[in-house]
Amino acid sequence: MNPKPNIVNLPVYKPGKPIEEVKKELGLDEVIKLASNENPYGASPSAKAAIIADLDNLFLYPDGSAADLTAALASHLGVQSDNIIFGCGSDEIIALIARAFFLPGDETIMADQTFSVYKSNADIESAVTIEVPLVDGTHDLDGMLARVTERTKVIWICNPNNPTGTIVPEEALVKFLNAVPAGVMVVLDEAYFEYVTDPSYSDGIRLLDQYPNLVVLRTFSKIYGLAALRIGYGVASPQIINLINKVREPFNTSRLAQAGALAALADQDYVEECRRLNSEGIVQLEGEFKRLGLKSFPAHGNFIMVDVRKPATEVFDALLRLGIIVRAGHRLYPTCIRVTVGSAEQNKSFITALEQTLKEQEVRA
Ligand SMILES: *Cc1c(COP(=O)(O)O)cnc(C)c1O
Repeated sequence: MNPKPNIVNLPVYKPGKPIEEVKKELGLDEVIKLASNENPYGASPSAKAAIIADLDNLFLYPDGSAADLTAALASHLGVQSDNIIFGCGSDEIIALIARAFFLPGDETIMADQTFSVYKSNADIESAVTIEVPLVDGTHDLDGMLARVTERTKVIWICNPNNPTGTIVPEEALVKFLNAVPAGVMVVLDEAYFEYVTDPSYSDGIRLLDQYPNLVVLRTFSKIYGLAALRIGYGVASPQIINLINKVREPFNTSRLAQAGALAALADQDYVEECRRLNSEGIVQLEGEFKRLGLKSFPAHGNFIMVDVRKPATEVFDALLRLGIIVRAGHRLYPTCIRVTVGSAEQNKSFITALEQTLKEQEVRA
């Protein structure tokens, strides 16, 4: 059998290790997963109730257009329903954009250490990825502009950037958007939008009117705590949404996902509370890193990238043996781990384990 040649050498995505697998492998009773930026407080209780209420309807196909959820989200965001498309996670929206827009040889620009799904989908469609180095862990918007050519189709800005957690301030973003040629799409991935409290941060939705080439991505997987349901969305001009809709599978989001998201969206008090607790968690972790003499990137989402000044994969393994799952193996930051901001108690357990790990490694060195 002959696959597309461009996918032969593609790596299979390696997710954060599941809790159950780590428990079994290492014989641990308690494992704390701070590897996939999940909400440590779970979803709003009303989301669970809405899902249970819909369980009698499992035999029915979902509404392929997610009309009720689309209307509620449009009202929440202050846009029209035809500005929105839902996906099986915002991951799917990324794949659909690549599917709808890339021809082999088209160029696409992204940071050299950012969310891996942009590049994997560009690879699948035989587009050429241009990686622009981050500067201090932050997108170099001028550097990205300098790489625009006639072949450029899409520029990806992850804001906050995963894995570094940094943001581009609104002023720089607007200057960048003003300079990008109108025919080049800019995808602004705001998966962590609801967590950001920094006043210099922009709301991508508010920029859509001015920039018809802009697409904003958000998700119910992060602050809404519904990662298991796989539901995220894109917001853009009706023209772009219509094009992406042409390559979408008819029933790409499930009934339960739509029901859960609708209820979660209505519970903004819960979102507010999660944001507040996350901000406290960042202060807690940054304080501990300072005490331990470790440098971290300015964190704006629900995760922090910290330099442990040792091979991160070794620190990862040592933490795993203590029942803490984090993320390591970032190509350009081999001594950094990315840790999700957990509950105060989880953060404390992580810091205790990290301190022990770093001490042990010092003794052995
Ligand atoms: C988690 C994440 C997403 C996608 O999450 P979904 O679960 O597919 O909605 C998208 N972009 C970034 C940067 C993320 O970290």
